[in-house]
Amino acid sequence: MTDASSKELYEVKKTLKELENKKGRGTELVSVYIPPEKQISDVAKHMRDELGQSSNIKSKQTKKNVQSAIEVIIQRLKLFPKPPEKGLVMFVGMIPRGGPGTEKMETYVFQPPEPVQTYTYHCDSQFYIEPLRQIIEYKEVYGVVVLDRKESTIATLRGKRVDIVKHLTSGVPGKHKAGGQSQRRFDRVIELAAHEFLKRIGSYVDEAFLPLKDELKGVLVGGPGHTKNDFVEGDYLNYEINDKIINIVDTSYTGDFGIREVIDESADTLEEMDIMKEKKLMKKFLTGLISENGLSSYGEKEIRTNLQMGAVETLLISENLKSKRLTYECAACGNMMQKTLRQHQKQEEERCSNCNEVMKVAKEQETAEELIELAEEVNTHVEVISVETEEGTQLDKAFGGIAGILRYKVK
Ligand SMILES: [Zn+2]
Repeated sequence: MTDASSKELYEVKKTLKELENKKGRGTELVSVYIPPEKQISDVAKHMRDELGQSSNIKSKQTKKNVQSAIEVIIQRLKLFPKPPEKGLVMFVGMIPRGGPGTEKMETYVFQPPEPVQTYTYHCDSQFYIEPLRQIIEYKEVYGVVVLDRKESTIATLRGKRVDIVKHLTSGVPGKHKAGGQSQRRFDRVIELAAHEFLKRIGSYVDEAFLPLKDELKGVLVGGPGHTKNDFVEGDYLNYEINDKIINIVDTSYTGDFGIREVIDESADTLEEMDIMKEKKLMKKFLTGLISENGLSSYGEKEIRTNLQMGAVETLLISENLKSKRLTYECAACGNMMQKTLRQHQKQEEERCSNCNEVMKVAKEQETAEELIELAEEVNTHVEVISVETEEGTQLDKAFGGIAGILRYKVK
């Protein structure tokens, strides 16, 4: 994943989390996915048709809510002469805050980090977030290789989609020797051919995965028998690819079936990947804290200073960080200043340090978002850390949700 997209991805992941818990009273939450090549006028026409059909809905309340949602969509569509580069995603519906009558219209309109594939209109008691989830998963690539002495298949896995990149056969002869050769010579020929085949697989794997190495989250290797282990342990792969091997699986098959087996068998490993990565980063941070010349820093103020100096290698932000960053502007003299407001902290009147006028809030942003933007400007890698691990909880509770692993220590 490139750094340029980490903010975008953070925002979509956050939205996704918010959306998955939302429920309407009836089947009245509307989700629309618009691919980039779709005409907005066609979508608008479709919405008007849906609006017409919604008059058949039996429940008066549901009918009213569906109609208001569709009307919001029709209005919003007017802002787009055509879909943005990657298409458009809209979630609109009345969400209850408590008992009946507490529903409020909620509207989410945004451009996803990867193109929308299929035009979808969906009306249900929940928002239809599966395509969005797949779009996010699509950004994460795994490499898959299955092999034995006879053949090898190389594939990529993005979300649930498997793409076969290459299929190779070895031509290594079977166990039975042809007439006329000595057994020893025959064995040597086989060994050599097997070695050559592994070399060939290695170069194809490098060719397939090296261009993806920034987004490549891991490599899975499988196959029947011991050949796969020879392949992993031998010097057949570029070290950057070899370092990314996260699972070695015994399979019954090679080929497409083998690829499938490896993926199925790796489900737990893949699920643990994010958690493992988070744990590893947090351990690095914590170790840095207790060692004398450790490269760890935490707290909003310190991290800001380090970020501005380009000294932060990896910025760690807790997914629980709930503070807001406010930018104030003085209408009288143009003076600006920024302040962080913790969750539940009341916003107080701020006076200009120049002319003592009351300042107004010019911009309000989540601190997490603002820090990610800062990090992107200075090429700092960002990791949003969940609170699913003990270390992640520590980041949230003990370190204020903001920490960093430094490139060097700022004196
Ligand atoms: Zn002023």
